[in-house]
Amino acid sequence: MSGAPAGCRIKITGIVQGVGFRPYVYRLAREYGLTGWVLNSSAGVIIEAEGNPASLQEFARKLVDSPPPLALIRSCEMQEIEPRGFREFSIRQSESEDERTVMISPDIAICEDCKREVSDTRDRRYRYPFTNCTNCGPRFTIIKDVPYDRARTTMAPFPMCESCREEYENPLHRRFHAQPNACPVCGPQTRLCDREGRPVDKDPVELLKQGYILAVKGLGAFHLAADATNRDAVKSLRQRKRRDAKPFAVMVRDLEVANNYCYLNSTEERWLTSPQAPIVILNRKKDDFLPDDIIHPGINTLGVMLPYTPLHYLLFDDELEILIMTSANISDEPLIVENQEALHKLREVADFFLVHNREIFNPCDDSVMRVTPLNTPQFFRRARGFVPLGIKLPLTTRPVLALGGELKNTFCMTRADEAFLSQHWGDLNHYLNYRKFMDGIPRFEKMLDVRPQVVAHDLHPGYQTTHWAMEQSQMQRVGVQHHYAHLAAAMAENGLTGEVLGVVCDGTGWGTDGAVWGFEILRGDYRQFTRLAHLKYVPLPGGDVTIKKPYRMTMVYLLQVWGEEGLEMAERFLPFLNREEKQVLYTQLNKGLRVVETSSCGRLFDAVSALLGVCSLNRYEGQAAVELEAAVDRSEQGRYDYLLEREDGVWLMNVFPMWEAMVDDLERGGTVGIVARKFHNTLVDMIITTLQHLRDETGLDRVVLSGGVFHNQVLLVELMQKLTVHRFIPYQHCQVPPGDGGLSLGQAVVASEVSD
Ligand code: ZN
Ligand code: ZN
Ligand code: FE
Repeated sequence: MSGAPAGCRIKITGIVQGVGFRPYVYRLAREYGLTGWVLNSSAGVIIEAEGNPASLQEFARKLVDSPPPLALIRSCEMQEIEPRGFREFSIRQSESEDERTVMISPDIAICEDCKREVSDTRDRRYRYPFTNCTNCGPRFTIIKDVPYDRARTTMAPFPMCESCREEYENPLHRRFHAQPNACPVCGPQTRLCDREGRPVDKDPVELLKQGYILAVKGLGAFHLAADATNRDAVKSLRQRKRRDAKPFAVMVRDLEVANNYCYLNSTEERWLTSPQAPIVILNRKKDDFLPDDIIHPGINTLGVMLPYTPLHYLLFDDELEILIMTSANISDEPLIVENQEALHKLREVADFFLVHNREIFNPCDDSVMRVTPLNTPQFFRRARGFVPLGIKLPLTTRPVLALGGELKNTFCMTRADEAFLSQHWGDLNHYLNYRKFMDGIPRFEKMLDVRPQVVAHDLHPGYQTTHWAMEQSQMQRVGVQHHYAHLAAAMAENGLTGEVLGVVCDGTGWGTDGAVWGFEILRGDYRQFTRLAHLKYVPLPGGDVTIKKPYRMTMVYLLQVWGEEGLEMAERFLPFLNREEKQVLYTQLNKGLRVVETSSCGRLFDAVSALLGVCSLNRYEGQAAVELEAAVDRSEQGRYDYLLEREDGVWLMNVFPMWEAMVDDLERGGTVGIVARKFHNTLVDMIITTLQHLRDETGLDRVVLSGGVFHNQVLLVELMQKLTVHRFIPYQHCQVPPGDGGLSLGQAVVASEVSD
């Protein structure tokens, strides 16, 4: 063994701040008898270590192979240097200016160690709702400014007590430099009050058991909580919230309870118990322990999450194991984050208020995802636990701010080879959401230390985001077509460069020809796209009304396929429709009044859903399509006919023959489940056949799938599998939602490439 000491300098980038990386390095260095130092710098953690060469090598290997649980290493550079003769290993003071560009961690669910302390009667943090450590706790939601330290968070008003300070300063302690460290002596406190804001001396758990509805201030917003097994409580929550049909999510005590109510595979278990602790959409078991018809009407899946803060953890006991836990905001308004605001806005909704005195600075909703039958994650909402984590890009970008669309909106900021998507802001048509969205932009600029030079927006002239972009004179503006942005988003998160084919199945988006697009096959890279195929246009009467009333779309197809005869058919399939509304629609379509052309896939699902009597009114976005999927008879293999027509070099996918066959099927007694399945199969077959033509024409065989319709698991799984069978290379969304929540990512990458 060589006696001469060796030295090395290691630079590690990624999520290495606020995750206990430096203390980990410190402990590891001591374990291997090394000397030197560790430091947070502009691009990440820098280490100089020296000692026995073998130990040094082991040390470096371990750093990369088993970093602390929350760290995410993006790169590790190692360089040999002359040993300098350090006497000990130390954690050096960071140069605070430098820390700006280090990534800020998302909020992290309570860890096992903290859980143990909270449930240990002898521990000084027994039942303390704000217990956290370097491995868990609030981050993004409490950070006001960078560099990340306590003074710049909403923990600033709580000076640490002696005991907490000791933990904080001890490099060997789990709470070393845990900025939000707190205990019952020095930290934030909860308070239970009634509707008037008067303190109430009762146990929140008992109140929940008695069927009361509680407004609970959590990590990123207020929730409304109620015992999910109590039919009356759930029912009155639904009534008071004035939310007719949108499914409620539940929080369960532990994994075992989740398994009692739902089917879980190991991937779903892993996501549920992950540090991000998202809501995972699971298949509900058939039992009658829950009022399922009120919790998630019309569908057989249930959104489930585990307690992710000690405060939530303490809402459960041996008898109370499952709670409705739904965002407390009223209809489409922003998340509620302030105590007074909650008391005011939820006066008629909650019976009691469990509040606390730590401010929520960055509102952040729960993330919602599911594991597809292909065992891949799919996001409905990427928020708590993930924001502001960057998404690695396959190219280096200019600093871009991409504004997204309008509904379910996120924005995206790029820095070098990463894209940072914001949390969701809801429908920006709502002024308060728009305000929050606007407030969020400078916060991201500050947090990332980015000054965007380019602003990317949708082409829709009516979107609030488009209006805002038009007013920006200091940034270069780039408009990106909606479905092209979807394509680019799918490319970017999959690390693709070069040209691909993209199948975009979506609700609505402004097309370059003024029509409402939504079922498109595009060819594109990050610089340009060509529309190669789309669903044959049908008229869309008065856009927004029709989105809310799927049966209007059924009428459109009936009249398109059968002409005036369609009026009589509507009699049969849409018996609830009165003569007057039918006539008005007929006239409107005939005269082309307030009618635009559309190739929307979402509207096609609506039309079929209402034809089958599955759902004729959308009480939440996408309801008709969601319920149509739920109605599918999985065993059916058949499909209907369709036509591919060539017009001006573009393939038109014509589903009129399918409509004739569907109606035939129904008249011959075909069940809803069978027709629904054959409809799905038809789309899959039509897409594959079209793609085969396009592959012959273009030589491209990589296919990205994007757009909100790909939440549909039947369509997604069938397509992914059949594409592989037909020797295409298919890609789907796994990091950002396939719908408009992921739109800003695609806009950002395109804008960076086409701007100058
Ligand atoms: Zn912890
Ligand atoms: Zn303390
Ligand atoms: Fe879209």
